[in-house]
Amino acid sequence: MKIVFRKTKTNYYSIVSLISAIDSRKLDVDVYIESSLEEILKYPEGVVVAYSFMSFDYERVKKEVKILKEKNYTLIAGGPHPTADPEGVLSMGFDYVFMGDGEENIIKFIEGFPPDSGKIYDGIKNRVSLDHYPPFDVQREMFMPVEIARGCPFTCGYCFTPYLAGRKVRYRSIESIIHYAALGVKKGRRIARFIASNSFGYMSKDGITPNIEAIERLLYGLKKIGIEDIFFGTFPSDVRPESVTHEVLRTIKKYVKNRSIIIGAQTGSKRVLKIINRGHDLETVEKALEVAALEGFTPHVDFIFGFPFETKEDIQETFEFVEKIIKKYKAKIHAHTFMPLPKTPLAKYGAGVLTRKHYKFLGKLSSSGYMDGYWHKQQDLARTVEKISK
Ligand code: SF4
Repeated sequence: MKIVFRKTKTNYYSIVSLISAIDSRKLDVDVYIESSLEEILKYPEGVVVAYSFMSFDYERVKKEVKILKEKNYTLIAGGPHPTADPEGVLSMGFDYVFMGDGEENIIKFIEGFPPDSGKIYDGIKNRVSLDHYPPFDVQREMFMPVEIARGCPFTCGYCFTPYLAGRKVRYRSIESIIHYAALGVKKGRRIARFIASNSFGYMSKDGITPNIEAIERLLYGLKKIGIEDIFFGTFPSDVRPESVTHEVLRTIKKYVKNRSIIIGAQTGSKRVLKIINRGHDLETVEKALEVAALEGFTPHVDFIFGFPFETKEDIQETFEFVEKIIKKYKAKIHAHTFMPLPKTPLAKYGAGVLTRKHYKFLGKLSSSGYMDGYWHKQQDLARTVEKISK
């Protein structure tokens, strides 16, 4: 079998995970990666073309699928959008859809095992253990941040992660992380970054309360095998405010290179905080920022602007909260525009709406260096997503 993975700007981590899983088994398959439709069309008819995509890629994927279908390729799809709407994706022209975890099912597909039901391989019902698969592909030198945890016990109303990855958090063991990091070091990779819904919840029982012993053992172990630069509690993952404690910051400070941490707050309005079901209050956010600042970390705080159900008062409260935390804790703001992702509880409200007041406020913060993020571009993406969410 020959499989061509369609690489895009947003699916690199997904395809690395899948290719690593394939390469970890002795399978009769040739794997290719292509970044354009033109390159894929050079492959003979009959090869398998694999897509992993998000909802805002829907229109582009649809166009490509139409062209590929005429050439008789076998088309398979996985990732967030196919997980949210498997039937819709099959009706785009895909032959098979992979929901949820993809590692085990892509192997089953290559080995010729039939789907769990109809044309759907179900990685929601059949979750994988992270330790059964490598975090990146050492052989091909395709590296990515190590996914140390998958799943999230919370159900924030705008987020698809609890459905895509499950509400039970699964951890990659310290031994597995160190083992693969050591293989990476041999190839010259001396940097470690991590993927988790809450890095400070790593190896915790509840996904929140930091397991200091495990975190320290992990970071110490990575340093010991020759990792020079460790980034923990920062890009590409963030931390829950409840998990930001003096103890965890003092522990990581001994090992990490980052002097900022990304904390999810999302709004400064008490009412909105309840609607979006964050599961914490504003006081908890402030406490986390205070602790971070006292321990010498710059809090980089995630906010979502433009919730369609926000009142003028909600918007004003958020602006005031943002101004307060910049002044008091020297926080930096990471701004997003609300996106109504399919299958999420808040999808029914439609695309995020930025008012003139938002533009003025966000523009001022951006130009004064207190804010970053793709909020501008996300407003367009939100409208694209809205069309397919309803
Ligand atoms: S936003 Fe974060 S904490 Fe909330 S459900 Fe998503 S991953 Fe979990």
